[in-house]
Amino acid sequence: MTDNLPDHTNATQLSIIVPVYNEEEGLQALFDRLYPALDALAAKRHLRYEIVFVNDGSKDRSAGILSKQYEIRPDVTRVVLFHSNFGQHMAIMAGFEYARGQYIVTLDADLQNPPEEIDALVNELLAGHDYVGTIREQRRDSWFRKSASRAMNHLRQRITRITMTDQGCMLRGYHRRIVDLVRQCDESNTFIPALAYTFSASPTEINVKHEERFAGESKYSLYQLIRLNFDLVTGFSVMPLQIFSILGMLLSLAAGTLFAYLLVRRFVLGAEVEGVFTLFALTFFLIGVMLFGLGLLGEYVGRIYQQIRQRPRYVVQTVLEQP
Ligand code: UDP
Ligand code: MG
Repeated sequence: MTDNLPDHTNATQLSIIVPVYNEEEGLQALFDRLYPALDALAAKRHLRYEIVFVNDGSKDRSAGILSKQYEIRPDVTRVVLFHSNFGQHMAIMAGFEYARGQYIVTLDADLQNPPEEIDALVNELLAGHDYVGTIREQRRDSWFRKSASRAMNHLRQRITRITMTDQGCMLRGYHRRIVDLVRQCDESNTFIPALAYTFSASPTEINVKHEERFAGESKYSLYQLIRLNFDLVTGFSVMPLQIFSILGMLLSLAAGTLFAYLLVRRFVLGAEVEGVFTLFALTFFLIGVMLFGLGLLGEYVGRIYQQIRQRPRYVVQTVLEQP
């Protein structure tokens, strides 16, 4: 294992990408922990780092706070300011676009991922792993969030065959090769850790600590979490559609059998009108199944539509950086 990087050029070797959306209350606390942690890491491993903050169209003072921080540490800070809110994954995508490092680590701005853990990730990257996933020890989220994400993790693993013990944690490390492949994909709705995983040759996972949000509240509503999970499942597998065609096949088989049975009864017992409510129940159930199927089709069609329009995935307003 190499502890020191072989080349001693002036090039940046490590890029940290931090998406920021309405985080004014927590940013200063983040700076106070992130910069010392990275300065120590850089000294220990003899490497140059940079932090790429991507302001995802915050409506509060976040952009101003980031510009001020850029003036304080212009040597290691770069700030990408989005025109409006394009979502966490697009912010990370932009970070990938602007990052110059050989190794790239993504980190949340809310201090739920301790910056001190970056060292452990870098260790795995230097050891030759091209993708470093993380598993949150003692996750500090609400009970509902935890159990819902456990169930979703399980389902996603079965459907997409992507092995991620903990899909929700965004503190992750990637090799430049993976990041370049992700950038080439040009997808407008995506879940970056899963996409990156599909390109990795030697992935690994490590345990990291997890803390409560330092300030402010989660930027994800239940609705957005559901949307994100659709991105994750439909973006990486067509199995939901296939399950649906099998379900449709089974249901029509059952309906056909029922029809034959009723036809025989009609001739044996004569006309009957009993069991109307059962029929209603059955019909409503089938309508429900059909609506769900239509919605599912819509998920895929919607994605195709967004993709073929080829609108820009995000719009950058300004970039604060040194040449
Ligand atoms: N974030 C973002 N754009 C968004 C929503 C969130 O850039 O539209 C950022 C946010 O500032 C934070 C990270 O993504 O740095 C994770 O968001 P959050 O902590 O709210 O998610 P949770 O931890 O609740 O899953
Ligand atoms: Mg968070």
